[in-house]
Amino acid sequence: MAETAPRRVTADVAIVGAGPAGIAAAVRAAESGARVVVLDEAPRPGGQIWRHTTRGTLPRGARRWLERLDASGAQVLSGASVVDADGPRLLAQWRGEPLVVSAERIILATGARELFLPFPGWTLPGVVGVGGAQALLKAGMPVAGRRVVVAGSGPLLLAVAAALAGAGAHVAVVAEQAPAAAVRRFAAGLWRRPAKLWQAARYRAGVPRARHRPGVWVTRADGDTTVREVTLTDGRRTWTVPCDLLAVGYGLVPATELPRLLGCRIERGRVHVDEYQRTSEPAILCAGEPTGIAGAHAALVQGQIAACAALDRPAEATSLLAARDAWRRFAARLEATFAPRDELRTLADADTVVCRCEDVTLGRIDASWGSRAAKRYTRAGMGPCQGRICGAALQYLFDWTPDRVRVPVAPATVGTLVHAAALNTEPQDPS
Ligand SMILES: Cc1cc2nc3c(=O)[nH]c(=O)nc-3n(C[C@H](O)[C@H](O)[C@H](O)COP(=O)(O)OP(=O)(O)OC[C@H]3O[C@@H](n4cnc5c(N)ncnc54)[C@H](O)[C@@H]3O)c2cc1C
Repeated sequence: MAETAPRRVTADVAIVGAGPAGIAAAVRAAESGARVVVLDEAPRPGGQIWRHTTRGTLPRGARRWLERLDASGAQVLSGASVVDADGPRLLAQWRGEPLVVSAERIILATGARELFLPFPGWTLPGVVGVGGAQALLKAGMPVAGRRVVVAGSGPLLLAVAAALAGAGAHVAVVAEQAPAAAVRRFAAGLWRRPAKLWQAARYRAGVPRARHRPGVWVTRADGDTTVREVTLTDGRRTWTVPCDLLAVGYGLVPATELPRLLGCRIERGRVHVDEYQRTSEPAILCAGEPTGIAGAHAALVQGQIAACAALDRPAEATSLLAARDAWRRFAARLEATFAPRDELRTLADADTVVCRCEDVTLGRIDASWGSRAAKRYTRAGMGPCQGRICGAALQYLFDWTPDRVRVPVAPATVGTLVHAAALNTEPQDPS
């Protein structure tokens, strides 16, 4: 195989992730005069929440951040997956070619992903993640007239249900597994965060109150070539709801692969950062959802703090620290309210597929093993998604700790991976 020399980019600050956290970090650093490069595997900046095809449909605040990013002078490399990292160097695959990025500082803003918990029927066509349904909708999936059940946990349920209803779907029920009293307490505390209160009110307006059912969860889905009905329970009674689309997700889990690969300390599943978003590794900072799930507003604040710290000007972030701490408290309330209930651990039966990539059923897995043994004996977590879906689910079901991160952290060609060694050599062709 002919080996192409990797393209090299040098910068003062390299940012992985162009969601709200990465955008805010890039804007703040580039507007201060730093050379900034931003890498994101998505085709356009915006992250999970703002990556709409047309900016015209985005809220004004989001549009302003994206316009500032355009004008900031930061080099934004969309479609660039970071697959390996060593110290302040990154190996990415960009437009099918290898790219080595060297920077004084790296800000990891890799976001979060959905937590899926297996139940009988969750692999049927027509059963999708809540965020997946949102993404399909943004990509133009027609839903008008479809009967939809939205289930799982967290504020995303209402957001997606409202979006589906707005696109003409019939949302039969929004089943929130968190207990009604906990959801009420959380909602009552939202006055402290007017932006969230306004957001919640908008979502509530999109879904009739009677169809929002806290304390209710999915136990199974049935169908043939597609899902036809969903079985729900409130722990006392069980009933079925006909549907042809089931969107289900149990909140978000921080995406920590790159931070873990770089040796950053992880505590309770999130990247540990100090008050200036500095990780335990010198030169590596982290902002947004990898440090805890708190939403886009929190990510924007953290991104700016990380940028100031990356430029060794932490004092410039002082005015942001109180807001960041308030968002941390909000994140703690969010986590406590919407934590998956214990009953969800027992929904899957021996025949339920838990690793979709490798077709591994729950019955083949021994709870005493741990993630690494499960990989060794069954290949669970070794398929194309590299455990992104089943990894968190198995950790939740069996209280396992995550296995060591293996390269590549995102799918890459062999032509890119052969350049992993280039991470340890000096750049010769900076651009
Ligand atoms: C599926 C999903 C749907 C959501 N929908 C909504 C919604 O409708 N409303 C709402 O209020 N909130 C929603 N959220 C939550 C919201 O996206 C976050 O609160 C917010 O975007 C956090 O910003 P962030 O910058 O921390 O992360 P993100 O916005 O997630 O940005 C992280 C970015 O990092 C990139 N990335 C990750 N790993 C790599 C890598 N190895 N190489 C290159 N790039 C990488 C990703 O492509 C992504 O663009 C959703 C979250 C998810 C996961």
